Amino acid sequence: MPVVRVAIPVPLPQPFDYLAEDATTEDIGRCVRVPFGRGEKNGLILALPETAGIDPARLKPVIHIQRDVPRLPSDWMELVEFTARYYHAPPGEVVALALPPKLLQGKSTRKPALRATDLSERHRTGELPTLTTAQADVLATLRDAPAGFKAWLLAGVTGSGKTEIYLRLTADTLAAGGQVLILVPEIALTPQLEERVRARFPAARIISLHSGIATGARARGFRQALDGQVDIVLGTRLAVFTPLPGLGLILVDEEHDASYKQQEGVRYSARDLAVWRARQRNVPVVLGSATPSLESWRHAHNDRYHLLRLPVRALASALPAIRIIDTRRCRLDEGISPPLHEALAARLERSEQSLVFLNRRGYAPVLACPTCGWVSQCPHCSANRVVHLADRRLRCHHCGAVSPVPRACPGCGNKDVQPFGRGTQRIEARLAELFPAARVLRIDRDAARTPARRESLLASIAAGEADILVGTQMMAKGHDFPRLTLVGVLGADASLHAADFRAPERLFQQLMQVGGRAGRAQLPGEVLIQTEYPEHPLYRCLIRHDTDAFTRMELDQRLAANFPPFSYQAMLRADAPELAAAVDFLRRARIEAAPLAGSLIRLFDPVPMRITRLARRERAQLLIESDRRAALQDFLTRWLERIHALSAPHDLRWQVDVDPLEV
Ligand code: ADP
Ligand code: ZN
Ligand code: ZN
Repeated sequence: MPVVRVAIPVPLPQPFDYLAEDATTEDIGRCVRVPFGRGEKNGLILALPETAGIDPARLKPVIHIQRDVPRLPSDWMELVEFTARYYHAPPGEVVALALPPKLLQGKSTRKPALRATDLSERHRTGELPTLTTAQADVLATLRDAPAGFKAWLLAGVTGSGKTEIYLRLTADTLAAGGQVLILVPEIALTPQLEERVRARFPAARIISLHSGIATGARARGFRQALDGQVDIVLGTRLAVFTPLPGLGLILVDEEHDASYKQQEGVRYSARDLAVWRARQRNVPVVLGSATPSLESWRHAHNDRYHLLRLPVRALASALPAIRIIDTRRCRLDEGISPPLHEALAARLERSEQSLVFLNRRGYAPVLACPTCGWVSQCPHCSANRVVHLADRRLRCHHCGAVSPVPRACPGCGNKDVQPFGRGTQRIEARLAELFPAARVLRIDRDAARTPARRESLLASIAAGEADILVGTQMMAKGHDFPRLTLVGVLGADASLHAADFRAPERLFQQLMQVGGRAGRAQLPGEVLIQTEYPEHPLYRCLIRHDTDAFTRMELDQRLAANFPPFSYQAMLRADAPELAAAVDFLRRARIEAAPLAGSLIRLFDPVPMRITRLARRERAQLLIESDRRAALQDFLTRWLERIHALSAPHDLRWQVDVDPLEV
């Protein structure tokens, strides 16, 4: 009787074999219901092996193979298998991630009614903007390239018209009968891009896929894509797993964005999988950004990616002027320097919008007692709870623990406990005092708790219903507000001295992005950065908009330190109620690693994570590094087999993170 090998969503590294009387190779890629433990589970048939991996007498028969849904195509199966192999994740967990739950559970998704589309009316007939010279050059290079796989890095300053390039390429691919996959880093950025895409291709069948859409809609969209009845798929990292039988082009917008890397469960990078998929399907992929990642720059220097540049803005005459304000030389009023104060007043006078950027939400990062030294430490985490005055709460930004702001010090009863430091709420409150006539609007994760709230906040900004915006990184990305001409940056210095070697890269990207919000249309923009380190090389590069100089500098430092992108890393993390248990597990794992490592692998010592305690669990990590990706992969495969065989306390959890972004 045939044996089927099934990926089942459980945290075990291997697939499971079952008997299936009537199974054929036609069933590879179909969902199946099987007995598992004392219950039943749904899985995906990966293969029909010649012989079972276990004693044939112990094989159980499958319950039901779902044959009313078309099977998943072999290239999709390969993508899932590659993801499991490369990220060393259980295949069943990758299936559970990549496949909408409703499809895996075999709930029939009604076949959607589809509009018949006539190719000739697929494209908008209205006027297209005349391309700038740079855009025309870039497009010509892309169009002249021979068909097939090629990875392009489109480095274009903010507002240079990268999206216009995406749209033209999309039109080419649609006209040739192909499908287009467009990835964006965040849900918040999907509606506006979707709007532009729909406006350009009114007759195209577009589906939008991200973690915010309902399970039913996700399953329907996936099913439509599977049936080849979709022209454009637009979505966040999850969308990289959409089956696209006629895939002709992949676009990855803001390719540097850390959101492309999933930080839990299967720790995959959608950007990297997108490049893999383009190669697999032999189609071009364009990675676009104003501030490409150092990984991508290195590939461009190595000719693995082909570099395209858009050096000037499409609409505005120039990039915003960036000025550094030396805060050691002026008196700050609740964090606001006199030059920033003046600049804000000038914008108010001219009815232009300003943005004050501060990447710290809440009122103050800590509540403290000056008498006894009590601080608002979170009981579950090694972090302080943040003061939120809007609802008078102390809130842990790591585990979410909430309690009222105490009226007196819990340590000594002193009535004079004080908030220290500044968050967006405090800046918002002070700005409202300083500019009583201004409409001050705060946009952070607290103010925009739901997507609907966020949309309405963005709409009121676009409608000119706010004069001064106070925002976190949520405001840094993508948004286009024509009347916004001033960006003031507070508190950026903290990232200059962070322990993570990627901190300067992130800070530079973030400041370029947020600065890019200023003066996008006809009005000139200005960016004021308050700092105590005006001579810092990062700021020197920033004021000249010199991404190339910054990139060279950072790459030199990474090379000297042998950090990525010049080496490849993986991280083994463990967490348990007690730090000692986590560290002990990693120590034993390291002992297992030593004989396997050879000369190509560097093993570090287990160390507590920076935020050691999180939600009552204590965490440690062990870094592994190699100059060769293949050597690292090979080592991980052999090592993880041994780690799985280690005994561990029942309350210990561990995971491996390949190409980790947080180290
Ligand atoms: P990016 O994606 O590089 O940030 P966008 O594609 O959003 O830039 O373009 C910035 C602005 O310039 C948008 O308002 C867009 O409509 C406009 N734009 C882009 N290309 C052109 C062009 N060739 N002519 C006129 N306007 C353009
Ligand atoms: Zn006290
Ligand atoms: Zn906490």
